[in-house]
Amino acid sequence: MTEPSINQEMGAVLKSLGIDSINPGASTGSGWFPGTRDRIDSYSPVDGSRIASVEIPGRDVYESVINTAEKAFAEWQLIPAPKRGEIVRQLGVEFRNYKEPLGKLVSYEMGKSIQEGLGEVQEMIDICDYAVGLSRQLSGFTMHSERPFHRMYEQYHPLGPVGIISAFNFPIAVWSWNAMIAFVCGDVCIWKPSEKVPLCAIACQKIVARVFNKNGIPEGVSNLIVGDYEAGKHLAGDKRLPLISATGSTRMGKSVGETVGARLGRSILELGGNNAIIISGHADLRLALNSALFGAVGTAGQRCTTTRRLIIHDSVFDEFRDRLVHAYGQLLIGNPLDETMHVGPLIDKDAVRLFKEALKKIKQEGGIPIVEGEVLEGSPYESGCYVKPAIYLVRNDYEMVQHETFAPILYLIKYNTIEEAIRIHNDVPQGLSSSIMSNNLRETELFLSHAGSDCGIANVNIGTSGAEIGGAFGGEKETGGGRESGSDVWKCYMRRQTNTINFGDRIPLAQGIRFDIGE
Ligand code: NAD
Repeated sequence: MTEPSINQEMGAVLKSLGIDSINPGASTGSGWFPGTRDRIDSYSPVDGSRIASVEIPGRDVYESVINTAEKAFAEWQLIPAPKRGEIVRQLGVEFRNYKEPLGKLVSYEMGKSIQEGLGEVQEMIDICDYAVGLSRQLSGFTMHSERPFHRMYEQYHPLGPVGIISAFNFPIAVWSWNAMIAFVCGDVCIWKPSEKVPLCAIACQKIVARVFNKNGIPEGVSNLIVGDYEAGKHLAGDKRLPLISATGSTRMGKSVGETVGARLGRSILELGGNNAIIISGHADLRLALNSALFGAVGTAGQRCTTTRRLIIHDSVFDEFRDRLVHAYGQLLIGNPLDETMHVGPLIDKDAVRLFKEALKKIKQEGGIPIVEGEVLEGSPYESGCYVKPAIYLVRNDYEMVQHETFAPILYLIKYNTIEEAIRIHNDVPQGLSSSIMSNNLRETELFLSHAGSDCGIANVNIGTSGAEIGGAFGGEKETGGGRESGSDVWKCYMRRQTNTINFGDRIPLAQGIRFDIGE
């Protein structure tokens, strides 16, 4: 493995993370994976710098990582859950200690604003706290047996090594949503981060490894495989991994779902969204404006929960459109490490190409530009990844509107009745996050009812973007049906066992069946 090149600024950040090399080393149970190329270069979309270049060694490393993980699982699952929780508590302390450099690294490597980078680390801290409490609450039900002198109950056991495939837009938080829960459940993890943000993953792996080592935990509880989609495909097909939790595009999810399903493994799929806010004639337009604005341009439109469609009542359409256009005019686009900026870059030039293509197609379909989007050039946009967010008046049935373009393009659609708004809302293939802005109880309750939003997340008077870790996070239809993070999601990371104990001196069969053999 060659020593990677790291530019000066990131060198300082990595140093403050206690990382002197980006080679995570065999001692942390980490490895790289041979994909379609022999090296992964990480470029910052902020300024175009190459911040790391990692050579990928052979498949034997993958095998040794999985073998180490399997051995580690045998030991880790024997540690009582509250003690595993104690290790996760210490991870939370370390993430607190490293919040600033880690947040900065996220911002620099992925391109989201520094506040969002820090917010992502905060989510990791929050899920650690949540998992610590959970480690004392992994409880099952007891139920009454139909047979005398019998007791029935169910319990949850650790599942095994869990594969985590993550997307570029949340380089570290989504991993932590999975890994911290899996750790307290007694599982070990093998993380395949996005090839676009490997350095963030390496930094986390280093921090985690230090905590595990300090506690004398066997190598291989937390593992990292850096590679491209080939590495992800390999994880999906690996029978030694009973669960694959995959976050990314619907295209990726279909492939992972098929592969894992074919081997009858379990998967948690967290895929693309096409999220809308219904802005009713009864809405507080000030709240609606803030929600729509952050939802549409935050993270430069690169959140799975980004607001992509505004379904606006005819009576407030013109006023709301004008206020929105005015707000778009105030947006500051630039270096996301500068806190005064509202919009940072897209992840790479490929994303910029897709943005441009989407705008062209939407125009061809009849979309009317309200705010023209464009690619920004010259200083300080030399990386070629900065774009001006766009707004289009469209019909919901346009092909591009049905599709998730991972960029800041907002579609406006008019409606007249709440039933029509809900129908338009649900008439897309995806089903992640949804929202209604209204102070009318009849409308808001209808939206939350079975006849309302068909999404995994439905909000009233807050936007679609972002979520708290305490709830189950995920969506329906082409969003994949998976759930991560809080609520009872931990059950996905364990295997359920139903136990029946006979403390009598007879063997009565269930359902009154008799099977008499003379004694
Ligand atoms: P992507 O699908 O290109 O890649 C995601 C991850 O999957 C990467 O690690 C990649 O290497 C891997 N991968 C790609 N193809 C694969 C395959 N066939 N088999 C196995 N692994 C494969 O997505 P991206 O561009 O990194 O992220 C953006 C997408 O992720 C958007 O669609 C966004 O909505 C979605 N996303 C969803 C959620 C959610 O919770 N629903 C959260 C974040 C991002």
